[in-house]
This record gives sequence, structure tokens and C-alpha cells, in this order.
Amino acid sequence: MTRTSGTLYVVATPIGNLADSSPRSIEVLRAADIVACEDTRTSRTLLAHHGISARTVALHAHNERQAGEKLLRALREGSNVALVSDAGTPGVSDPGALLVEAAHREGLRVVPVPGPNAAVAAYSAAGFASGRFLFAGFLPGGSKKARSVSLDGLDMPWPVILYEAPHRVLETVEALLARFGPERELVIAREVSKKFEEIARMTLAAAPGWLAAGPHRQQGEFVLVLGPGEQKPAGLAEGERLFKILLEKMPASDAAKLAARITGLPRNALYRVALGPPAGGSK
Ligand code: SAM
Repeated sequence: MTRTSGTLYVVATPIGNLADSSPRSIEVLRAADIVACEDTRTSRTLLAHHGISARTVALHAHNERQAGEKLLRALREGSNVALVSDAGTPGVSDPGALLVEAAHREGLRVVPVPGPNAAVAAYSAAGFASGRFLFAGFLPGGSKKARSVSLDGLDMPWPVILYEAPHRVLETVEALLARFGPERELVIAREVSKKFEEIARMTLAAAPGWLAAGPHRQQGEFVLVLGPGEQKPAGLAEGERLFKILLEKMPASDAAKLAARITGLPRNALYRVALGPPAGGSK
């Protein structure tokens, strides 16, 4: 990094409530030589609200590489660039990460200006006491089968956060219900920080009904927070399958020993899932 290089500020902006702009984010946007926007029209509304008349350039999913080159040049030449997306934190299901990566590669200074993010806002209001969560973003589009396959990796013993579009939210909730069962909990965070905000926690069984309970219920922006599943050692389902096959040919203690050797899973756990807890205990 040379002394004269500028700084790339990654600036979070409101997800629906203009009052959520932090004083620091406004200061950084005001002082920036260039504001790189996902959509210049959207961001100009925010800038105008704060009386900022910065130079804006477009940096969106379709021009991120070319526009990024120009911004890197400007940074190298000493301009400070503030990167914003349409709403929330750039790079989170939004463009921005390619420019940030390139800036790091060039040894340029990257400074986050933290603030709104729909996933974290929804998680904070969901109330799942878990030390961790998985942010899974949008499920891939496509056929029902492809979407169902995309749920394969989401059965976690901690909450999973999804973004969803209004026209697909019901379909996604139904897919979650089919996959994870009626008892699993779900928080639907709709229109977070906006006038018609709703944060509702329910079982998956109740979720389709909640969404169908009024015409507005499938309108707006959604975050889904799927509650944690049962804690199972990784690979337990496969271990259980193997144990049951071996049981057809040998006594349970031998089958458990062999299945544990093959899978690396504890014998105890294999017994528990396949047969219930062993009578005298087992290592
Ligand atoms: N970068 C953004 C962030 O930090 O949250 C996310 C952008 S992503 C393109 C847009 C999706 O985020 C929406 O489809 C919705 O799932 C979620 N989202 C954004 N604003 C929201 C809000 N006010 N309420 C609920 N969900 C929101």
C-alpha cells in the first residue's frame, strides 16, 4: 500500500428505515470522493435525504469486474471510495465482494462501516439461544426437486437464516415443513424496520397458515430463521444404516464395534439411534 492510496469503505445502509443510517455512515458517505452504488438511483435517494451530493458510479452484479477496475484505479490514485448496496450490508447477498477482494489483493485499505443487515436483525429478534447460526442466503431457484436438494445441507443443530422473495416464500416454507417436520420452529421476519414489520415465531406446521392469513402476509421482504434441529454427530444416519445392515449378519455388539470402526462414530451413539440405549452401557 502506498501512502497516497485511498481507502475503500464498505458502508451498510438502512434496510427500510432511513433513521437506521449511523452518524458514521453519513459522515463517510459525505467525505467520499466516489460512492459506488448497486443502483445509483436508489442510493441517490438516501444521499439526498442526508443532503449529500457525492459523485456516484454504478457497481452491480453485471459490471462488477469492469467498474471495479476503474474504482481500483481511483483508489490507487488516492480517491476514497464508499461502497454501498441498495439496502443493508454490501457483499451480503449483494454485490461488492469482488471489489473488496481485489482491493485486498492490491494491498489497499478496506474499512467496514457496520450497520443494518436483514439476517442479523431477524436473528436478533428470533430468540434462538444458540452460540452459532448458518447464513444460507437465498435458496437456489429452479425445480421443486432442485430446491429440495438444496435443503440437504441445512439440517443443523443451530439456526439457519434464509432470505426469500415474496412470490416464493410460501413454497419455501412448505419445502421446509416437508423436510424438517411439523415440530421444528420457524421465525418469519417480514418488512424488518418498516411500517408493516412483523416478527412471528411458530412451528413449521403453523407457518403456511400464518402466510395465508391475509393478503399482505406474502408481501414485502422476508427473512426466515429456521430453528435448530437435534444435535446428531455428523454421519450418524449413515452409521445407523450400516449398523442395521451388519446386524443382519452378526450379533449387535460385533455390528456396533465394526460400524464404529468403519465410520469413526462412537459405539454408544450407534446403539442409541439404532436400538435405543444399550442395557449395560457400552463404550
Ligand atoms: N445486503 C442485504 C442485507 O445486508 O441484509 C441483503 C440484500 S438481498 C438482495 C435482499 C433480501 O434481504 C430480501 O429479499 C430479503 O430476503 C432480505 N431483506 C432485506 N431487507 C429486508 C427487510 N427490511 N425485511 C426483511 N427482509 C429483508
